Amino acid sequence: MSIQSNLTISCEFFPPRTDKGMVKLRETRKQLEVLKPAFFSVTFGAGGSTQEKTFETVKEIQQQSDFDAAPHLSCIGSTHDNILKLLEGYQANGIRQIVALRGDAPSGWAGSIGEFQHANELVEFIRAKTGSYFHIEVAAYPEFHPQSRSVKADLDFFVQKVQAGADSAITQYFYNPDAYFNLINNCTQRGVDIPIIPGIMPITNYEQLIRFSDICGAEVPRWLRKRLEDLRDDTKSLQDFGLDVITRLCERLLAEGAPGLHFYTLNKADYTLEVIKRLSL
Ligand code: FAD
Repeated sequence: MSIQSNLTISCEFFPPRTDKGMVKLRETRKQLEVLKPAFFSVTFGAGGSTQEKTFETVKEIQQQSDFDAAPHLSCIGSTHDNILKLLEGYQANGIRQIVALRGDAPSGWAGSIGEFQHANELVEFIRAKTGSYFHIEVAAYPEFHPQSRSVKADLDFFVQKVQAGADSAITQYFYNPDAYFNLINNCTQRGVDIPIIPGIMPITNYEQLIRFSDICGAEVPRWLRKRLEDLRDDTKSLQDFGLDVITRLCERLLAEGAPGLHFYTLNKADYTLEVIKRLSL
């Protein structure tokens, strides 16, 4: 197997709600620093529900580590003024990377859709207001976004985000590597040449994985779902099996040219470190 040496590894966190969670995340981040990640990203609650915690968390990473912090920024329900204030705050704190997203309205949300309809408008806005200051990441969907009208429309809108100024993309997670290679082929045919980094979701809990995958439109293939279902009450065996599956997935992605891996860490270090160890990177 030949794997490129200039891989981009990045790690995603969610902002902890409590001080205790923040202390734990600090430990997790320090453990993951051995990977020399391109950045640590921090999610942003839809409708701005974690706005302050995201800000606090990225500020700490940026100030206390040698690695870049990348806030996720979702625009649904937001205004131009609000997004501009956030961008100014990030600039003032030396943050240079942003994961620009539309986001999803929380269920039962009665707020207005706001002044942005889609992520391409957010990317355009960031470029209009801050020029080339930020490295902008956007989301990509190897198994298509759950609201996509058609394969062509999904690809057209992705291309639109790239043309608006995205520098690279991170994918929704998937367990079928062919879905990723298909996306890459489609993008290449459309002249898109930005790095598209596969998002890697650990397999640690059957119920959670199935529930979350149904919501975000990620397919858990039948062979995998059945096996996980059999192991659902045996946490250790399920997690061992999950690690094997994820390691094989990453091996194949890297061997066939993926430019890196973005780990959805769930604020834990061990899983990501073990996968990297098994990949001998
Ligand atoms: P868009 O690119 O706007 O696409 C959304 C849908 O609209 C798609 O179906 C697309 O085909 C369609 N569309 C796009 N542009 C247009 C257009 N111009 N006209 C008509 N239709 C269009 N969510 C959070 O709330 N917080 C996070 O921190 C977060 N982090 C994420 C990180 C990654 C790597 C990924 C993959 C997803 C993340 N999400 C997060 C989830 C994401 O916000 C949702 O998947 C959301 O539904 C779509 O966001 P988007 O930026 O892909 O939207």
